Amino acid sequence: MTFADLGLSPEVLKAVDDSGYTQPTPIQEKAIPTVLMGRDVLGTAQTGTGKTASFTLPMIDILASGQAKSRMPRSLILEPTRELAAQVADNFEKYGKYSKLSMALLIGGVSFGDQETKLDKGVDVLIATPGRLLDHFERGKVLLNGVRTLVIDEADRMMDMGFIPDVERIVSLMPPLRQTLFFSATMSKDMRKLADKFLMNPKEIEVEAPSSAAETVKQVMVRVTRNEKRPALRAMLKKEEVKNSFIFCNRKKDVDILLGSLNKHGFSAGALHGDMTQSSRMETLAKFKAGELNHLVCSDVAARGIDISNVSHVFNFDVPIHSEDYVHRIGRTGRAGQEGHAYMLTTKSDEKFLAAIYKTIGKEIPVVELENKDEISAEASEIASRSRSSSKGGKQQRGRGSRNSREEADNSSSNQNNNNNNRNNKQASMKDQKPANNQNRRRRNNRDWDEDDTPVLGLGDHVPAFFNIPLRKASS
Ligand code: AMP
Repeated sequence: MTFADLGLSPEVLKAVDDSGYTQPTPIQEKAIPTVLMGRDVLGTAQTGTGKTASFTLPMIDILASGQAKSRMPRSLILEPTRELAAQVADNFEKYGKYSKLSMALLIGGVSFGDQETKLDKGVDVLIATPGRLLDHFERGKVLLNGVRTLVIDEADRMMDMGFIPDVERIVSLMPPLRQTLFFSATMSKDMRKLADKFLMNPKEIEVEAPSSAAETVKQVMVRVTRNEKRPALRAMLKKEEVKNSFIFCNRKKDVDILLGSLNKHGFSAGALHGDMTQSSRMETLAKFKAGELNHLVCSDVAARGIDISNVSHVFNFDVPIHSEDYVHRIGRTGRAGQEGHAYMLTTKSDEKFLAAIYKTIGKEIPVVELENKDEISAEASEIASRSRSSSKGGKQQRGRGSRNSREEADNSSSNQNNNNNNRNNKQASMKDQKPANNQNRRRRNNRDWDEDDTPVLGLGDHVPAFFNIPLRKASS
């Protein structure tokens, strides 16, 4: 089957041809004619299957006739995360380049002003995360009763992130007579129940997951001690075949620490995590795509859906706590049938998480030894002794709060800069947000959209001041 058999317009076919696609993917074959007929769709499909084009291509043709009115978008696509929303917007631009459609992207972390100007002019396609869309609605800047086509994408992820009440509210603001396309990577009972609320007599479409990462990604792991992690990572990054990489940490704070360390050692690296403003996240991603940065140190915000081809390596600096995150992380390499490499640094305390990963991927990951093991161990001992002496020196000052002195031993100055940047970013992103006026709103803003990824042990970094008051000797 070819794209021309699917009933798409010459303008869309030309854009598809420009994209270099020769054949529709299975979900495109099944969904495009159905969407063009105006029928609802219940799709079980993951990212990587060509799902985005399966709804954007026919939507471009559906929207070709008709005109947008001010503040009344004609179609709406809901995405759980800012990055996925921005990716869908890129797709609309790419496939809609010979069609005259107007589009607005409503995501958190960027100013309301530009988004409002676009809404005022009238848009054919609105792509949004639920929280920011409701913010605009509450400010009276957007009305949803003109929406005739609704896409709810990545519905299971929306559920995981607690967005379903927002989605339900958004849908209640739309006319009942509309076309709805509902996509989810998994279709549990709950998901089906939810879909039943939104859909009318949908065509059910299910496609297999894209070729499992295991087939195109060579996975190995390296056993290290905690202090060996950073020297081991640097040794691996220096290998010739590592052109570029995603480096995953479990906690946002560790992303900054590791970035500082890599920059200090001369690596071209940037960071990506949920505490950064949207504009700096986009800027970093753009630099990485353009090859201006070779490595991206990230939290799991970067693990799902980000579609960048030609990423040669993924490094799991930390073993992920949730086994499904492992699959998403390594899926950033080996895309579109290319060969990819995934390395994971594991310490003794990771055994329980490793067992869960093996269960998820259905096999064990082979262990490899690094060539320069002695050098790495020597550096690790140096880090350990530096941290011992710095924790001795810092003990009086920091009292019981010195848990992280070891982690910060070899990059304190650059780390300080990064922490400052991070703080600035936090302040900037807080400035972008409207003050929360109820509990639901607060919850939504927090989740928009980095999961809280900090499994803090004990007191974490928050040491109550009274811990630092010297004990008075009891008088006898
Ligand atoms: P998605 O599942 O929508 O995230 O798409 C995954 C990747 O497949 C994206 O990089 C798309 O550009 C690409 N893609 C979509 N449709 C096709 C097609 N028919 N042939 C080749 N690549 C495609």
